[in-house]
Amino acid sequence: MHSPTLVIVAAILSALVTVVLYAVWYFNRHIPGLRLWMQSFLCATAYCINLLVRDQLPWALWVSVVLAQGSIALAAYLCFLGGRAYMGRAPVPHWIAACTMAGLVALSVYFTEVQPNPGARFALSGLVAGVFFLLTARTMARGGLRSAPLRYLFAGVLGVHGSFALLRPLLFKLALPAGAMDPESGMVVMLSQFVVLEAMLALVLTAFGVLMLTNEFTTSELRHLAEVDPLTNVFNRRAFLTLLDKAISNAQRTQTALPVLVMDLDHFKKINDTWGHRAGDDVLRHFVALANRCLRKEDVIGRLGGEEFAIFLPNAGGGGAIAVAERLRALVEAHPVVTGQRSIALTVSVGVTLCTGGETADTALQRADEAMYLAKERGRNRVEMLSRMTLAAAA
Ligand code: GH3
Ligand code: MG
Ligand code: MG
Repeated sequence: MHSPTLVIVAAILSALVTVVLYAVWYFNRHIPGLRLWMQSFLCATAYCINLLVRDQLPWALWVSVVLAQGSIALAAYLCFLGGRAYMGRAPVPHWIAACTMAGLVALSVYFTEVQPNPGARFALSGLVAGVFFLLTARTMARGGLRSAPLRYLFAGVLGVHGSFALLRPLLFKLALPAGAMDPESGMVVMLSQFVVLEAMLALVLTAFGVLMLTNEFTTSELRHLAEVDPLTNVFNRRAFLTLLDKAISNAQRTQTALPVLVMDLDHFKKINDTWGHRAGDDVLRHFVALANRCLRKEDVIGRLGGEEFAIFLPNAGGGGAIAVAERLRALVEAHPVVTGQRSIALTVSVGVTLCTGGETADTALQRADEAMYLAKERGRNRVEMLSRMTLAAAA
């Protein structure tokens, strides 16, 4: 098999991938990075086509060289930009890449017209593309291997491809005795074929990677829709109960009590009636922001419905839970909601309980709810605690 045949296959493969990614992007335009990755494959296709036809073209060789170097560097840069967009990172200033590519093009023209040296051009394009692919790999390898394994797989493919692009001139140097860079020699042809094959493999794996990342994004989007309350951006009732169940099992295994808080905003209906439903929604968001200020990383908050929220605090203990509840109550009282000209005073009633051995999420929440109603009965804007023992003694 000759290199041109391989390059034709690479061009067809790259064009097909571009078309597939275009279709995927067309129907999923909201997925960040997808358009840039599709454009990156488009540049790779242009690069392959240029390689195939450059001997037949009427213009000078340096024009083809500029097109080839430009398209491969642009493909790698777009891949990097796609990675940053997918990961929600700020775009980089384009002038750095523009200067790098201008330098690459200028040196490539020099090594074509002034001092012809295909080896140097090959090393230069590998250097620029390799650095962009390695930067993409570094950008993508985030989020934790267990929760986002596909990103690491994608990063791995680009990392290997980027390193190979950087090091492949060395391969030629090591395999060929000095001065034996005859393009017709068997070794050069074999190494060239190997380079094209590696690029094809990287192309296919990267394309699979992009498709898998599209799937990862859609799945996490659906999970977010199913688990998170759109108004306040905290877990909804169902997701909160599932997490509470898991936390209760953990607490039972370690034989610790799990504090559970139920909170209900006081006279919320009056706020809605006086200031309108929109202001009521602002109040709910404001309350969640204040609650988040009182919580640690492992604490979980959820919206049970309406203006009722719940929190569980792993490892806090009874005293710690009451302290958190009291801090939250005081914080809410001290921070009225300010929207425009108005300031809406707000208070919250909090019920606290400890979930102990053999209990379910439902019974624990029910008892915290009873404690919260006790706080309402006793005048609102206060914290009450009910334990299993208190209830048993009262019965
Ligand atoms: P209490 O102090 O006894 O808790 O009185 P309350 O007025 O807070 O309680 P009540 O249950 O009478 O009223 C709750 C109100 O919450 C009624 C409902 O219209 C309102 N509500 C429920 N969900 C939402 C929401 O998503 N947005 C807004 N703005 N209001 C909501
Ligand atoms: Mg209420
Ligand atoms: Mg209520």
